[in-house]
Amino acid sequence: MNKESKIVIAIDGFSSSGKSTMAKALASRIGYVYVDSGAMYRAVTLYALRHGLASATSGVEATRLVEALPSILIEFAVQPDGSQHTLLNGEDVEREIRGMEVSGMVSPVSVIPAVRHRLVALQQEYGRAKGIVMDGRDIGTTVFPDAEMKVFVDASPEVRARRRLKELTEKGIPTTYEEVLANVRERDHIDSTREESPLRKADDAFVLNNDNLSLDEQLQVLIDLYRKITAK
Ligand code: C5P
Repeated sequence: MNKESKIVIAIDGFSSSGKSTMAKALASRIGYVYVDSGAMYRAVTLYALRHGLASATSGVEATRLVEALPSILIEFAVQPDGSQHTLLNGEDVEREIRGMEVSGMVSPVSVIPAVRHRLVALQQEYGRAKGIVMDGRDIGTTVFPDAEMKVFVDASPEVRARRRLKELTEKGIPTTYEEVLANVRERDHIDSTREESPLRKADDAFVLNNDNLSLDEQLQVLIDLYRKITAK
């Protein structure tokens, strides 16, 4: 492969496996665009919560949410510090989509086939020009089955819950380890057992278990893999 030609990099894995941090760091190191597909599902979930189309007590009103899809516009805005914020109909919702209310409803929203079809089409559009790192659950299997580089990130639920708790605490979002661990396990279950593009490792994905690896070590593994693939 020509050194100049850009590729598509798909990074999938369980909730809070650290894949976004890794994907972001990789994209910035190699000058690629980073897209957080989970943020898109979270933004749709926030819309549903705000419009009474989803609640912890009554679940998701799938038919009404699907009808509302054309009025949900999701975009990303690059901040002066280089980070990306998610916009829902023009409003910066980056903080709100990370809270426990959205985390508690996002998996049931993500099982709805029409929601997935719409977001997958948008994600494929982003990848058209290549030079992209996208992370999620079905990127290497459904969104970009022909991605030149696929990585599946794995880590134990306890390690992931501890990481997520730290992240939420740093952002000032109140929660407990038990609540986060329960949410991680529940999302793992829903994400891996849903009918429409469940979370699973693509046959040709490289597996990275990062229980005992620092971010620098993980990044090095990915850069070595990227160089190997693009040197072909
Ligand atoms: O990556 P993150 O944890 O922010 O994703 C939130 C949720 O969005 C996941 O638990 C999953 O239910 C859903 N999701 C998905 N497909 C993707 C990305 C996220 O179903 N490609």
